[in-house]
Amino acid sequence: MSRNYGSRKRVLVTGGAGFLGSHLIDRLLEQGHDVICADNYFTGSRDNIAHVWGHERFEFIRHDVTFPLYIEVDEIYNLACPASPVHYQHDPVATTKTSVHGAINMLGLAKRLGARIFQASTSEVYGDPSMHPQREEYWGNVNPIGPRSCYDEGKRCAETLFFDYHRQHGLEIKVARIFNTYGPRMHPSDGRVVSNFIVQALKGEPITIYGDGEQTRSFCYVDDLLRGFIALMESPADVTGPINIGNPGEFTIRELAEKVIAMTGAKSELVQLPLPADDPRQRKPDITKAREQLGWEPSIALEEGLGKTIDYFRTKLEL
Ligand code: NAD
Ligand code: UDP
Repeated sequence: MSRNYGSRKRVLVTGGAGFLGSHLIDRLLEQGHDVICADNYFTGSRDNIAHVWGHERFEFIRHDVTFPLYIEVDEIYNLACPASPVHYQHDPVATTKTSVHGAINMLGLAKRLGARIFQASTSEVYGDPSMHPQREEYWGNVNPIGPRSCYDEGKRCAETLFFDYHRQHGLEIKVARIFNTYGPRMHPSDGRVVSNFIVQALKGEPITIYGDGEQTRSFCYVDDLLRGFIALMESPADVTGPINIGNPGEFTIRELAEKVIAMTGAKSELVQLPLPADDPRQRKPDITKAREQLGWEPSIALEEGLGKTIDYFRTKLEL
């Protein structure tokens, strides 16, 4: 039996109280859907969803995805998982469980309901990549036993489960490999580089560069990424991914620090701290597949996105 009422769907967003999940919920509510957010508030917060609390089409369930969930929905976006290295390494066993048991539970739910399911995978599946830029065909270069492995291998195993449920049970899956994304609603103590640098600059504290700062990342603004998520979820059933969603503009971490200093007018000095173990040297998505299969590409350049993010943190920190 279809649970659809016209184009209005019931959509589950796991990890919906987090940075990306809360923006996704806004878009889904704007589109007229009913949204159920399941989150255990490990890294997310009620602040991120306070503005939709009380919305007639929004519902929150405090739930840990490592346990089964029995509800009725038409679509599932599975985002639950700490994403910042600081937080995912805090309790590495819980991180792997969240990715693997979380995927099993959400795939089981999708199978029972015949629901389409989206997985927030990551560029970390490529590890410290020897292919540059990274294409989806690349199998990656991942340390299975290092401090980042709980996240990288957890996400890789989740991809395996998604594709096995697809092959074995005919599930409609949508696997996005997300590259470093930033924007408003990142937690000030998130620990990832864009929020760290902006918060440090606004507070006049030293900017912490790990290693020599010559490692690169490609930064995508949250609004661009969200368009990609929805385009993928709405794409024809044979578009399963994995598909890179990110901005191919590539910057060194030192360049990012310099931009943040210039844009905030901060007097902060740059300090160099040790490079964390297995920190990837370079990262840049090849988005040919997203362009061809989804007609998607990012449109917000780094400076524009940084400007909006700096404004957000200025207000948040009341500076
Ligand atoms: P985030 O930490 O802000 O959000 C993650 C959310 O998941 C939080 O609300 C947290 O409380 C929740 N969560 C964690 N463990 C849970 C559990 N066991 N049960 C229920 N909820 C749980 O991170 P984000 O940047 O919004 O990332 C969202 C998703 O996108 C994650 O799966 C992440 O791996 C993926 N991703 C993000 C990026 C990025 O650059 N932002 C890059 C690659 C992949
Ligand atoms: N980084 C840094 N200073 C910080 C935080 C991060 O130099 O205060 C570096 C980090 O070592 C990595 C890059 O910035 O090379 C991106 O780190 P982040 O934690 O944002 O995400 P990652 O891409 O490593 O998962």
